Amino acid sequence: MPSKRQIHVGGVPIGAGAPVAVQTMTKTETANLAATMEQIRTVAAAGADIVRCAVPREKDIVALQTIVKESPIPVIADVHFNYTLAIKAIDAGAHCVRINPGNIGGHDKLGLVVEHARAAGTPLRVGVNSGSLPSHLMELEFSNPVEALVRAAVETVELMERLDFTNFKVSMKSTSVPNTIASNRELAGRIDYPLHLGVTEAGTKWSGSLKSAVGLGTLLADGIGDTIRISLSTFHAEEEVKVAWEILKALKLRERGPVLIACPTCGRLQFDMDSVVAEVERRLAEYDDPIEVSVLGCAVNGIGEARHADFGITGAKDRAMIYSKGEPLKLVATENLVDELFAEIDRYYTAGKRVLRDEASAAAARVWLAQNEDPDAMTPERIAALEAEAARATVDEAESPVAGRRFTRA
Ligand code: SF4
Repeated sequence: MPSKRQIHVGGVPIGAGAPVAVQTMTKTETANLAATMEQIRTVAAAGADIVRCAVPREKDIVALQTIVKESPIPVIADVHFNYTLAIKAIDAGAHCVRINPGNIGGHDKLGLVVEHARAAGTPLRVGVNSGSLPSHLMELEFSNPVEALVRAAVETVELMERLDFTNFKVSMKSTSVPNTIASNRELAGRIDYPLHLGVTEAGTKWSGSLKSAVGLGTLLADGIGDTIRISLSTFHAEEEVKVAWEILKALKLRERGPVLIACPTCGRLQFDMDSVVAEVERRLAEYDDPIEVSVLGCAVNGIGEARHADFGITGAKDRAMIYSKGEPLKLVATENLVDELFAEIDRYYTAGKRVLRDEASAAAARVWLAQNEDPDAMTPERIAALEAEAARATVDEAESPVAGRRFTRA
């Protein structure tokens, strides 16, 4: 169930239907002000809405005072074990402080942090980790790790409510993707506070991105989750931000920058599409507009499923075609394909988002397309379309008033 309550981290609303906020964590020593600020600017440019900095030492508090003033995006201070650092982070102006009530030093200390946060109007992120559940839940963790996590999170929420504090979001972290999904689904049905989602210690850029896409994507598709962080083992925090955006864009939850569509290639491919796609992706990263660009490895299908793309390319050994919204634009030499594509995209923006079509060039491209199309070829796209059609027919048959008998689509 989506959250009902909303908090604000700096100017960023979290929960109750606000856009899912992208956050990441700096990987620098926070006290290294220059390095930390450089990374914050980099992740902000990549699209982070919020950034979190670890604050394990007094000298990090000193840097934090400057960071919160100079950061282009709100800053969350990440504090463990030390309630005085949490209080100092609030005093330093952090836009939110992340604590784990289970390790902050007992209820009295937690009460002091909460009182300070209340007085300053600072929200907290409170949460539990599968690796550090309270001792009375250890046995349950062994027999039912999902219920143990959820119960720990609910107990944390009840503790905050007993302190009459509701300006918080909740996180429940596990290294297990199935447990992350199951526990957050369960928790979302039991509390109405905003949820921070993440798969903890997800792994390298490759495996961590996939684990996060599966775990967080499943929950987000259910409407669960108000802010996400992709944890990757890389020093480049902006990579976490890029992955987060790809997940949100794939689910059409938010738009940011271009969308690249590319066929998976097959034996019909006649040019180096690997390099072309990589180069197109690299150059598209410089555009902010949510333009859709498609790359097809051959013209056997025609423009087909890329008909809706703002711009697209398809090629053969020597010649390639640029198209827009399902209509050919021009033929180019395959070796110039990427340069010519971006020349067309730039012309489109210069003309105020109008596609400029030269009729003679378009006519030549149409002829080439007709010569390269093969309506009988059993391509991956056509096989997928036939399978989808067969699946639809099966559903129709099951739902038909004459179910059990042969049912012909009208
Ligand atoms: S048939 Fe489909 S998958 Fe194969 S190269 Fe052509 S567009 Fe790509």
